[in-house]
Amino acid sequence: MSSLLHPDRLLPADPAVRAVARRLYAEVEALPIVSPHGHTDPRWYAFNETFPDPARLFVVPDHYVFRMLYSQGIPLEKLGVPRIDGGETEQDGRAIWRLFAANYHLFRGTPTRAWLDHAFATLFGLEERLSEKTADAAYDRIAEKLQQDAFRPRALFERFNIEVIATTESPLDDLAAHAEIRASGWGGRVVTAYRPDPVVDPEFEGFSANLTRFGEITGEDTFSWSGYLAAHRKRRAFFKTFGATSSDHGHPTAATFDLPPAEAEALFRRVTRNAPVSAQDAELFRGQMLTEMARMSLEDGLVMQIHPGAVRNHNGQIFARFGRDKGADIPSPTEYVRALKPLLDRFGNEAGLTIILFTLDETSYARELAPLAGHYPALRLGPAWWFHDSPEGMKRFRTMTTETAGFYNTVGFNDDTRAFPSIPARHDVARRIDCSFLAELVCEHRLDEDEAVEVARDLAYGLAKKAYKL
Ligand SMILES: [Zn+2]
Repeated sequence: MSSLLHPDRLLPADPAVRAVARRLYAEVEALPIVSPHGHTDPRWYAFNETFPDPARLFVVPDHYVFRMLYSQGIPLEKLGVPRIDGGETEQDGRAIWRLFAANYHLFRGTPTRAWLDHAFATLFGLEERLSEKTADAAYDRIAEKLQQDAFRPRALFERFNIEVIATTESPLDDLAAHAEIRASGWGGRVVTAYRPDPVVDPEFEGFSANLTRFGEITGEDTFSWSGYLAAHRKRRAFFKTFGATSSDHGHPTAATFDLPPAEAEALFRRVTRNAPVSAQDAELFRGQMLTEMARMSLEDGLVMQIHPGAVRNHNGQIFARFGRDKGADIPSPTEYVRALKPLLDRFGNEAGLTIILFTLDETSYARELAPLAGHYPALRLGPAWWFHDSPEGMKRFRTMTTETAGFYNTVGFNDDTRAFPSIPARHDVARRIDCSFLAELVCEHRLDEDEAVEVARDLAYGLAKKAYKL
């Protein structure tokens, strides 16, 4: 075993509790990975090309990595992040890697460090901590392995023991990569998920052009309310043919509305005809669409995920130069109890509907989310997300939600990642933390060990399959 990875990492320090946690972890360590929500690129699985170089695997696409480096004054251009205007950025993978390695100390104490070390050790056999001194040797080793067939995306998918993985696509995506995966005859199970923000959020870049395209793709009049809704129904059905079992909604707040049909139609007219759309109408429309999507979910069975509370593109200069998803999204306080009431008044009692709630505002766990999910049959709690997808974040999630919502109103783990090699690391962290939490309950005689084994297996595997119908 590499010196980068201690076999007892993340398990409790107390020897008695650690012994129980080890036994629980042994039961779940090797279970297959179910990854119901994430952002890996389906073209990787479709075309199975070699990953170009270590920097383009670990640094350039990972906003967790480059946001930390940027925070210490390293320009994104030097990290090879592409500019919107095609302006000059570092192209030499080794130069990017050296800069990253020389600053690896910045990741001490962060989950990124744990994920990276896990991949370095288990995939590439690195034994020494990454630093300025070890940068070149690590680069050469990883680069050499990446040329081997065993390190192509499909081989890694199989090695990671992924039973099923979901990607996330816009309704405007033609799902050609998914079609290619199907046509290839490869047995890996990759499904899509319906993420309609570009045609649901009037404040999304290019909203009006997106609606035009939405109409061309579906053959519906997407500038009429009924045609627009019909277009969603068609597109959802199309996504289902590529395995979709869920939709995903990334809104600034959890606001929902349930307007009478005539008012909803008038609102639709305003957000598609007025320029600019008022902030109030934009919020009203996004909220109305969550209720419309819930109605469609009851018809077609897609599970809804609501990911609210990120103030997107907080850094205007970075957004202008590099675009979305560049590590400049910042959490904001999020209210759920009143915000979700219109949707729940309409559909909250439907046991056949599943709405999975996420938060970037941990103050809502015990006060709002656990009580809501511990009551409404339609609601489930998604795992600790994004900034809280970390050992401490997972502990806080279990500590603050379990007494009110139990384990069975939660849905297992989501890796939610764009960084392919981090997938096993992230699931492993979740399994270790959940086993540690359960071991505490066992040692305090609040749960029998045989029950804890069952829960551990459900949290690692069974609940994600069930909640996401996978
Ligand atoms: Zn996501």
